Amino acid sequence: MSVTAQSVWDNCLSFIKDNIQPQAYKTWFEPIKPVKLTNKALSIQVPSKFFYEWLEEHYVKLLKVALVKELGNTARLVYIIKMENTYGNKKPFTEKIPSANRSNVKAQEVDVPIKNKSPELKNPFIIPGIRNVKIESQLNPNYNFDNFLEGDSNRLARSAGMAVANKPGGTSFNPLLIFGGVGLGKTHIAHAIGVEIKDKYPEKTVLYISAEKFTQQYIESVKKNTRNDFIHFYQLIDVLIIDDVQFFSGKSGTQDVFFHIFNHLHQNGKQVILTSDKAPVDMQDIEQRLLSRFKWGLSAELQTPDFETRVSILKNKLYRDGVEMPNDIVEYVAKNIKTNVRELEGAIISLIAQSSFNKKEVTIELAKQVVEKFVKNTKREVSIDYIQKVVSDYFQMDVTTLQSKTRKRHIVQARQLAMFFAKKFTKASLASIGSQIGKRDHATVLHACKTVDNLSSTDKQFRKYVEDLTKKLSL
Ligand code: ADP
Ligand code: MG
Repeated sequence: MSVTAQSVWDNCLSFIKDNIQPQAYKTWFEPIKPVKLTNKALSIQVPSKFFYEWLEEHYVKLLKVALVKELGNTARLVYIIKMENTYGNKKPFTEKIPSANRSNVKAQEVDVPIKNKSPELKNPFIIPGIRNVKIESQLNPNYNFDNFLEGDSNRLARSAGMAVANKPGGTSFNPLLIFGGVGLGKTHIAHAIGVEIKDKYPEKTVLYISAEKFTQQYIESVKKNTRNDFIHFYQLIDVLIIDDVQFFSGKSGTQDVFFHIFNHLHQNGKQVILTSDKAPVDMQDIEQRLLSRFKWGLSAELQTPDFETRVSILKNKLYRDGVEMPNDIVEYVAKNIKTNVRELEGAIISLIAQSSFNKKEVTIELAKQVVEKFVKNTKREVSIDYIQKVVSDYFQMDVTTLQSKTRKRHIVQARQLAMFFAKKFTKASLASIGSQIGKRDHATVLHACKTVDNLSSTDKQFRKYVEDLTKKLSL
């Protein structure tokens, strides 16, 4: 049987496959094409220069062992880098590869005519027809540092954000992770950092994206077989801002691809900024290796602002909108809306609107009505995550235990209670409740709700659980 590039490479691959993670194999080895075999030199085609660097960095030993096994001690490896024709530049070029002397599996300068067929980089941010890659930053200029008011609750996050903006990639705050509850300003700070960087370093490529959108794009790219383009696109970025990374929980494919992108950016001194509604320790269903990356940099918490900060946020908002409002009313609002800045703003906007629509003066009475509405609405706004947390705390178990597949009676009951309260206190569908509480289906949730109804009318102890939990969840 004759030895061909293909047969040698196939044998190498089966050896490599046994020695690395399936995902890594898929990412880094499946895209490689064996091109030719001359003497003992196997030429393989890789999709990009980055790809070649990554292989040399991480898999050179493995490649060497595989190749020596096939071709003996004089084996050599030649990389051919597929044209990176992603910038609208049609002129083919040959990539110079420094000869690596780490091993006798050598990279070489190659001069093989390469078919100019590499696909255009497909990503939603490139404006077609423009010669240079132009990546729209997706930043909102209205979210900047000037209008992000400082207080004890946000001082660390704010100043870390500013430090990063002054020297993106050049501080030890990489990644910078900003975390905190809803409406406390995570998205605002994330944009502010980006806006500031764009201002100071216009040549830098900055991209803001929500974790949700990132995930959608990734899924699209897998469907369309452009996963590599997706990765390469993100590797072009100097400052990558991903908002609400808790959205990655349970999505292992997205986590994996983000891990690769993150490593590449980090190794190349690029800045990564992340936000999350939880501290890394509390994140669920996020791979350990990713969590450990989050901890490389700085995690800064946004806490609920104190009274003074709330007053100054309100005053600043009124000032920018050119509205005057008596001090006691501002203070009344600040005093009564404590949990989140978005609601604070919402209340004041609604107050302004009410008074101008109805041509009424803003009085304390009106402020009371508006605030009452807001506070009432807030109460009802519990999340399924929160319900699971409260229920598992109440029964002194972990959320993972509550979600587990076990049939132990007290755990099943806790889970059923969580489902019952999720139905009662959120607008989520049965299916969505089921998928969030231990990946069950809608029928299970329906059954849980009925069971809780039944038990609470027949079992005194159980009724007490329901009452206690109702109280806790309505606070
Ligand atoms: P999150 O992303 O944490 O849910 P946002 O960044 O969307 O919160 O903030 C909610 C609203 O509150 C936004 O309109 C934001 O501008 C405002 N906000 C939050 N913190 C501050 C602050 N310190 N100063 C001024 N506005 C703030
Ligand atoms: Mg946000």
